[in-house]
Amino acid sequence: MTKNNLITQIFRPEVRALSAYHVADAKGLIKLDAMENPYNWSEEIKQQWLATLKDCELNRYPDPEARQLNATIKRVNGIADEFDVLLGNGSDEIIQLLLMALPPNASVLSATPSFVMYKQLADCLGLRYHGVPLADDFDLDLPAMLAVITEHQPSVIFLAYPNNPTGNLFSEAAILEIINAAHGLVVIDEAYAPFADASFMNRLGQYENLLVMRTVSKLGLAGLRLGYIAGQPNIIEQLNKIRLPYNINILTQASAEFALNQQAVFDAQTQAICADRAFAFNQLNALDGITAYPSAANFILFKTPKDKATDIFLSLKQQGVLIKNLSPQAGLLSDCLRVTIGKPEENSAFLVALRNSLEL
Ligand SMILES: *Cc1c(COP(=O)(O)O)cnc(C)c1O
Repeated sequence: MTKNNLITQIFRPEVRALSAYHVADAKGLIKLDAMENPYNWSEEIKQQWLATLKDCELNRYPDPEARQLNATIKRVNGIADEFDVLLGNGSDEIIQLLLMALPPNASVLSATPSFVMYKQLADCLGLRYHGVPLADDFDLDLPAMLAVITEHQPSVIFLAYPNNPTGNLFSEAAILEIINAAHGLVVIDEAYAPFADASFMNRLGQYENLLVMRTVSKLGLAGLRLGYIAGQPNIIEQLNKIRLPYNINILTQASAEFALNQQAVFDAQTQAICADRAFAFNQLNALDGITAYPSAANFILFKTPKDKATDIFLSLKQQGVLIKNLSPQAGLLSDCLRVTIGKPEENSAFLVALRNSLEL
């Protein structure tokens, strides 16, 4: 083996073809790009949290099954005893380990645009990824989805509900048809469950191939890296074999256990974010040249005048506000930007900056 083409000899072509997931540097900016909850905890709650961390034995491995946290997650999400839950280092890790369990050449189906990690991780593992374009109203193109299911029999179908980056809930009837038609697993990714009034969690008992995935990230605990997936025990059992034994570290286990018992704190924050989402939506749509799309998540996708999205994005950044520019993804996202709902004063700063940038 000659060393001059070490990289091409060592790494699979699909890995070499990927680009790393890029995270923008938000230093000094109002950060409205990553669907984080803008609120921190009161001093009193922080003190209580720190007191619980004092008992963590950092010299010991964490509970490999995270049993206490698993039970708490089942309780706060109303997951019946007959289903099992697998925890991941973020729901990203759960997507990865689901895909790692598939045979080589397996097909994976999702809609596009949707959460980018479905495709990124499927590509990285050399699987056959099919991204079916959404309809113009951002709902699922059901006939096209069903055609791919018939032709390629995907092992896993990912449906983000609400969808990222469009913010809408897909038609429930369409999803049920997909679950019925699917030969493989259907994962309903409910990352934005705290901001939506709809869920498939109470349908777990109706379909043996249904899995419901959630995360604490968008709720307000993005720094902990904790996601979970619920489904039939025989499916979770297989996934558990691929999971690294100590994937949820002791500080995350203790912190999440503490936080999930502060339901009232998160409920108040979530309600404030939903009210501010309604306000920002109306303000955006009142602007000449802007079309905001209805959202059941903690962000809003909006369309800017033709070929102006990148200029507006850069102008906002120059004015100290970081949002997400989706226009380069083209297709349905041409001319589109996405803003996360922050604190009221952050949302106002964003709207002022946007008004300025439209006058350019
Ligand atoms: C943010 C997001 C995730 C990732 O969540 P983590 O638990 O932080 O890894 C998964 N799915 C969707 C649709 C998301 O928007």
